[in-house]
Amino acid sequence: MLASLSDSGSTPLDPGLAGGSLKVGRGGVPSQYEGLIVQAANDCKAGLSPSILAAQLKQESGFNPKASSPAGAQGIAQFMPGTWKTWGEGGDVWDPNDAIPAQGRFMCSLLKRAKNPAKYNDCPTETVTDPSQYNGSPTELALAGYNAGWCAVERYAGVPPASFAKGQTYDYVKIIMASSRQLTLSGASGGSSGAWTRPTSGALGTVYHATGAHWSSGYHTGIDFTVPTGTTVKAVGPGTVITAGQGGAYGNQIVIRHADGKYSHYAHLSSLSVSKGDTVKGGQKIGLSGATGNVTGPHLHFEIRTGPEYGSDVNPIPYLRQHGVSI
Ligand SMILES: [Zn+2]
Repeated sequence: MLASLSDSGSTPLDPGLAGGSLKVGRGGVPSQYEGLIVQAANDCKAGLSPSILAAQLKQESGFNPKASSPAGAQGIAQFMPGTWKTWGEGGDVWDPNDAIPAQGRFMCSLLKRAKNPAKYNDCPTETVTDPSQYNGSPTELALAGYNAGWCAVERYAGVPPASFAKGQTYDYVKIIMASSRQLTLSGASGGSSGAWTRPTSGALGTVYHATGAHWSSGYHTGIDFTVPTGTTVKAVGPGTVITAGQGGAYGNQIVIRHADGKYSHYAHLSSLSVSKGDTVKGGQKIGLSGATGNVTGPHLHFEIRTGPEYGSDVNPIPYLRQHGVSI
C-alpha cells in the first residue's frame, strides 16, 4: 500500500501502536466505552488508533465521566470550556456519548495537520513544512499538539523537547504511547508475515542529511530513533541478513537485503539475534538497540541503501512510506 501525504482517504496507523484490538475489562477499557472509542477512531479517516483515544481517556480522567480538574477541565475527556465549544457540537461535556466522539474529532484534526503541516498556515513560527523532517510519528505529533497546542509542534518541528513546559508535553506523549500499547491486546498485532514496519519504537531524532562534524561524510547518512539501550529492533520488511557483526564506527550492525534490491541497515546495537544468511520477516526482532561504536548516547541509527555498503544511502522516510509505514 502506498502511504499518502494527503489528508483524505484512509491511511495506515503508526506501526508500533496499531494492530490488535482494544483490551477490555480489568486493566483495560471499561466495556461500556469500547464501542464509543472504536467508533470515534473509525470515524477519523487519518488513521487514528482506538488505543490512543483509550490511553488519553485513561490518563485524562481514569475513564471517569464526572471528573473535573482545578483548571476547569470537564468530563471523561477533560475538555476545557473553550475547546468544548469548538469540538462538542453542542453536546453535553459530561456525557461520554458526546465527549468521546468530540475527542476523536479533535485528535483527528491534529493527525491531519501532523500529516500535512504545510496545508495550514496559522502559526506565528513555521520553519519546517516537510512532514518527513518532523521529529515524531504523526500520532506522536498529534498528541503533542493535543497537550501543548499545534503551534508548539510547528515551533519545534516535532514533539517539543523535555525543556519545554517542564517536560509536561514530552512526558505526555511518552505516557500515552506506552499506555496505548498496554491497552492493546497482543497477539493480533505484528503477526502478519511480510508486513513492513518502523525499525523500533521511539521518536525520530537526528534527521537524514543533517550536516555536522560528527559524520565522516559531512552529513548524516540515515535517521536516528531515540530509544534507550535494550529496546527491540525489528526488520523493517522481509529479507535476508547479509551482515551481522562489528562495523567500526557503526558498532554492532545488521544489514538486510530486501526483494526490491534495497538494503536496510541498523547500527549501534547492544545485541544481535540474527546471523548472516538468516531469512527474516517484516517486524521480526533482529536485536536490541544500544550505544556501540561511535555514538554520544544510545539510539538506533537506521539507513536505507541502494547497495550493501556505506555511501549508497537514500532517504529512509519516503522508502518506508512507500511500503505503507506511517512515519
Ligand atoms: Zn545516526
